[in-house]
Amino acid sequence: MAEVSGHELVLARGDGAYLFDEDGRRLFDAPASLWYCNVGHGREAIADAVAAQMRRLEAYSNFEHLATRPTLELAERLADMAPLDEPKIFFTSGGSDAIETAAKLSRRYWSVMGRPEKQTIVTRHLAYHGLHGFGTSITGLDPNREGLGDLLPNVQVPNNDLAALESVLAERADVVAAFFAEPVMGTGGVIPPAEGYLAGAEALCRRFDVLFVTDEVITGFGRTGVMFATELFGLHPDAVVFAKGVTSGYMPLGGVAAAPRLWKPFFEEGTSLMFRHGLTYSGHAAACAGAMANLDILEKEGLVEQVAELSPVLHDLARGFSTHPLVSEVRTGVGLLAGVQLSTPQLARAVAAACLERGVLVRVITNGTLQLSPPFVSTREDLDAMAGVIGESLEAVAR
Ligand code: PLP
Repeated sequence: MAEVSGHELVLARGDGAYLFDEDGRRLFDAPASLWYCNVGHGREAIADAVAAQMRRLEAYSNFEHLATRPTLELAERLADMAPLDEPKIFFTSGGSDAIETAAKLSRRYWSVMGRPEKQTIVTRHLAYHGLHGFGTSITGLDPNREGLGDLLPNVQVPNNDLAALESVLAERADVVAAFFAEPVMGTGGVIPPAEGYLAGAEALCRRFDVLFVTDEVITGFGRTGVMFATELFGLHPDAVVFAKGVTSGYMPLGGVAAAPRLWKPFFEEGTSLMFRHGLTYSGHAAACAGAMANLDILEKEGLVEQVAELSPVLHDLARGFSTHPLVSEVRTGVGLLAGVQLSTPQLARAVAAACLERGVLVRVITNGTLQLSPPFVSTREDLDAMAGVIGESLEAVAR
């Protein structure tokens, strides 16, 4: 905090895959902000849809019997799109809220099933699931958990190690509510799963009667070249968590798509059971209107298909850096995502600064990794130019 104070880069405007700072300098948005600006900046159709809804009715409570039309429409659209049969959609204001919701729903489910001791959530080393109470408790990024006192019951297992997951579940399934997994780990450094790992983890969850939840906050809505990575990896989770790409960040919105197993107990005829959870802005009408306009763009412009075409281009360009002496590892291979890890975080920051001087904004994440997750509207030429700048910046820092 002290280091950046007084050195803000103030961004004034965006257009497609590019940003402009207050001095008018044009920058390529290599991370799509925090992995979310999928349809690109400056989309008037989304701004217009949000403004029109705000003029009609900005938002209203969606508690109990109350509802707003864009909320119902978006819930139905997402229920059709989601990689689950007959899901129900629970809306939140963002990803951390959605993780909180999925974690509470998992625990509430087991309580209703007469097994209230099943409370622990299992995740992986380097996992990131936001920063609220549950997200902070279950992260595999240790610095995010420091100095906060007692956290909620959690266990972290090594990534891509089914034997480790099996032994935790074999020993403790009686207290484990769920396993949460990002299909491609994002903030931990862009880490795609080993072949078969996620399906294997799901099978273990089934065997030990533990819920399986995919956190698609980054991967959802096309980032991996299909609508949801859950489909790409052939998974059948009990819940899918989403945020970011549902609005491309134009409005704050997230949610959980829950499978019938999780929602049915609360909807049975005559039941007085209830999942007592809801946020002031759950199903915010203007945010939902923005999401509808964003999904229209995604579909009409074939942007998910564009991701499928662009992804191998990004993979090849990123892999080109793997032999550079400053680079310790390149992780890529799934979707429009790559992580270029430098030998030290200091070097990564120096390379990011050199990129900025040359017109490319890159973000440094865990262990000195450069996050490359450009907007879906990027072109091959944009990616070539970005890689050119990263290459020059590596050379400049090496010199
Ligand atoms: N889950 C994952 C996988 C994320 O990457 C993030 C944010 O980056 C979150 C959850 C939390 O989302 P938010 O920052 O919208 O609260």
